[in-house]
Amino acid sequence: MGRLHLNLLGGFEARLDDGPALAVPGRKAQALLAYLAMSRGKPHARGHIADLLWGLSGDEQARNSLRQTLHVLGRALNGFSGLVARDGTLALAETQYDADALALADAVGAADPSALAAAATRFDGDFLAGLTFNEPAFQEWLEGERRQCRDLAQTALRTQLAHLQQSGPVDAAINVARRLLTLDPLQEDVHRTLMGLLLEQRRMGDAVRQYQECRDVLQRELGLTYLFISHDLSVVYHMSDSVGVMYLGRLAELRDAASLFDTPLHPYTRLLLETIPDLTQIGRTRAPLAGEVPNPIDPPTGCAFHPRCPFANDRCTAERPELRPAPAGQVACHGVEEGRIAEADTA
Ligand code: SF4
Repeated sequence: MGRLHLNLLGGFEARLDDGPALAVPGRKAQALLAYLAMSRGKPHARGHIADLLWGLSGDEQARNSLRQTLHVLGRALNGFSGLVARDGTLALAETQYDADALALADAVGAADPSALAAAATRFDGDFLAGLTFNEPAFQEWLEGERRQCRDLAQTALRTQLAHLQQSGPVDAAINVARRLLTLDPLQEDVHRTLMGLLLEQRRMGDAVRQYQECRDVLQRELGLTYLFISHDLSVVYHMSDSVGVMYLGRLAELRDAASLFDTPLHPYTRLLLETIPDLTQIGRTRAPLAGEVPNPIDPPTGCAFHPRCPFANDRCTAERPELRPAPAGQVACHGVEEGRIAEADTA
């Protein structure tokens, strides 16, 4: 007698032994087979099956439909003796079939890395993907199985990823991380792991793109964003939509990244950008930032930057500037407010 192999992940497919895919006609015949398979040999009363698959029909019609479907299944599974109808119940004999969804659950239960790797590979789509019909009880069961299979696949892939991070090739770990993100792109820790793996391969550009993908999906789906703090302005440029420059614990300039980097307004921002190394200008000498960083416990009066600022005037030494609206953001600088310093100066 043939052994039945059921692929229920990513769609429905049935084979006997090594034979070709069987033609199992009708969504309800496929659903019935999948339901019995996921029950691991447990028998179900025919009335329960009829309610599950034809609950919106009358009792008589539901029983007839079940009878016809069993007839269709019997013909489609010619040579398979594991579909057992006995004492008003239906079951699949557990020793005569296997199913990828059950193998996935077993592998996760056993926590065996090689079994997990094999099981995770099988997950190429949702449980019974594409199969749907208007029967509320069946749809509820189907959604539950889909959720569970997705969770199991994530667990399998996470275990596999951890294993590969310890001892596997980085390329394989990157592939597993990408598969995890396909299942659920909101896994921030997986984005982080993937960025680290890309950096291990010195793929800085790909790592930055991964960060941007993570940031975008979190913004879009959860309304979240990142607060990224760095002294490396080149990285800030690539990673930020909006940039705040601080001096002595206070915001000096807060503007969208493109405007701030193209046309910095605050004198401190200008001097910071001047210090970014530029490989196209090798040999160029830069004027060092004048003066010492003041003591933050005893900051200068007025604008804390005034002892080092080439634009300082009397007002700057006496009055602390507040953040005021400026093109594409805000700037805390009397010189900008008074029009002595403008975007055009740096454009
Ligand atoms: S407030 Fe005055 S001292 Fe401070 S940054 Fe602006 S121009 Fe310079």
